[in-house]
Amino acid sequence: MRDRAWPGFYGNSIVGKKRQRRYARRLGTLVNRREFLQTIAAAAAVPTVSFQDASANEWGSPVFDLHFHLRPQPAGNLAHLDGAGVTKANLLTRGAALEQVKALQAAAPDRFTWFNSYDVTRPDAEQVLTEAVKAGAQGFGELKFHVAADGPELRRIYALAADLRVPLLIHFQEVDHFPNEGTWSTGFAKTFDSILKAYPKTTFIGHADAFWANVSADYHNEAAYPQGPIQPGGLTDKWLGEHPNLYADLSANSGNNALSRDSDFTPGFLKRHQDKLLFGSDCSCSDGHGGGVSQANNPAAARLAGKCVARETLTVLKRSTPHDIFRKIVWDNARKLLQVR
Ligand SMILES: [Zn+2]
Ligand SMILES: [Zn+2]
Repeated sequence: MRDRAWPGFYGNSIVGKKRQRRYARRLGTLVNRREFLQTIAAAAAVPTVSFQDASANEWGSPVFDLHFHLRPQPAGNLAHLDGAGVTKANLLTRGAALEQVKALQAAAPDRFTWFNSYDVTRPDAEQVLTEAVKAGAQGFGELKFHVAADGPELRRIYALAADLRVPLLIHFQEVDHFPNEGTWSTGFAKTFDSILKAYPKTTFIGHADAFWANVSADYHNEAAYPQGPIQPGGLTDKWLGEHPNLYADLSANSGNNALSRDSDFTPGFLKRHQDKLLFGSDCSCSDGHGGGVSQANNPAAARLAGKCVARETLTVLKRSTPHDIFRKIVWDNARKLLQVR
């Protein structure tokens, strides 16, 4: 459903009962009564949230979710944030999304920033992404396409991000989750070092399987999510230390797995890169408590089935690092990078 079906709904005041009924009638079969009431309830809850009062938050710090895919219903977006104790989120959108983003930002003022993505193999990709930034997008992402990480399609996007001074979020994956899925931004381990050097003015935020599996020096694309102790000196760890233009998105099973597989490794890693790590969920659960489907039925990520990835990753971060570093990773770093108020 397009959000324009809700004329006059968004804003600070909630529409009166009579108008609610009128809109409900107008929407007809577009939305059922339960969804409608959920939307109203979520919007009504918005003004009561205090962002500044960190002590009121169950995590002891405000939380910014860098990796949150825009959901079609405004209420669905807010249900996940509120359920998981997340203060603000960065909406990852693809293609034309401005209307939806604006509607959600109006329904929940100051809770959402957004990135935009667009098929990088199309000739108008630079034009479309430039327009998105002009319209308020604060970065590109997520960039998830069946192209090489050092290929011409992405290289022009890296250059554009530097010109427009926005960060980009990129998905690296070399191992299928299901037959014939195909690979995404390939060649991370072999070529991405050269990209980081070739585009020093581009801010890269790395994400997904290959990015996080390469936190261990013994990884050679054997599994999507390798288990067991991490061998020090992995490329991701090394490059985060060497390249000021590389940041890391801790979202999804990939990020959670990297933090969970070796408790001797995690605290030192968080300390080393405390200014470069960004909390994100990439969670698709419905309620911020693991309801619905949290990892898009990815069989390789079964360890997180029935769980909220946001909650799981916030929990492992909280127990692995002192409060000042925790706060940087879940809040301050993203706010600085995206210049969020
Ligand atoms: Zn991804
Ligand atoms: Zn969740």
